[in-house]
Amino acid sequence: KLIAGVVAVQGDVSEHAEAIRRAAASHGHDVEIREIRTSGVVPECDLLLLPGGESTTISRHLQREGIADEILDHVAAEKPVLATCAGLIVCSRDPKDDRVAELGVLDVSVDRNAFGRQADSFEAPLDVAGLDEPFPAVFIRAPVIDEVGDDVEVLATWDDRPVAVRDGPVVATSFHPELTGDSRIHDLAFFENVEAETPPK
Ligand code: GLN
Repeated sequence: KLIAGVVAVQGDVSEHAEAIRRAAASHGHDVEIREIRTSGVVPECDLLLLPGGESTTISRHLQREGIADEILDHVAAEKPVLATCAGLIVCSRDPKDDRVAELGVLDVSVDRNAFGRQADSFEAPLDVAGLDEPFPAVFIRAPVIDEVGDDVEVLATWDDRPVAVRDGPVVATSFHPELTGDSRIHDLAFFENVEAETPPK
């Protein structure tokens, strides 16, 4: 049984949990969801999800509770992470905002709320590397990724900007993949790799 941790400071925790369950089931994995608000939970998790919300609040909570260091250990152990919207900002190397206590596990710099200046929120069919059909991507005051490191793979772009990226075990999206009942991004982030390492039953 896999243990999936969802950072539960803010954001769509139950929607993400549902998407993880669906993606896991499609690969025949049994998954237990743990909500992360205090330290001690992350070390038990096989995979981690950082939802959207407000990156200042989320990042400060992670630092204050000692969860941030546990996430760094998780990534160092090459265990998968999916970070969405504010989660992407929290994981980034440079959020260009002193109020955010970034983790630096994703080699990108971001511009907070940059898409939001044009339109507060919108939905777009997105071509994503590894997916056969476009993904219905919901952007809500979404961050723009403006610089990506050499080892970062861009999985999708919108308006010529990266909106889904992979950096080793970390997959991040500037949109909200939990809102449309489509769990292919969760699948891409978590189970394709997990499955490759799990011998057939
Ligand atoms: N704009 C938010 C931030 O900077 C992120 C938006 C979201 O997660 N929907 O934290």
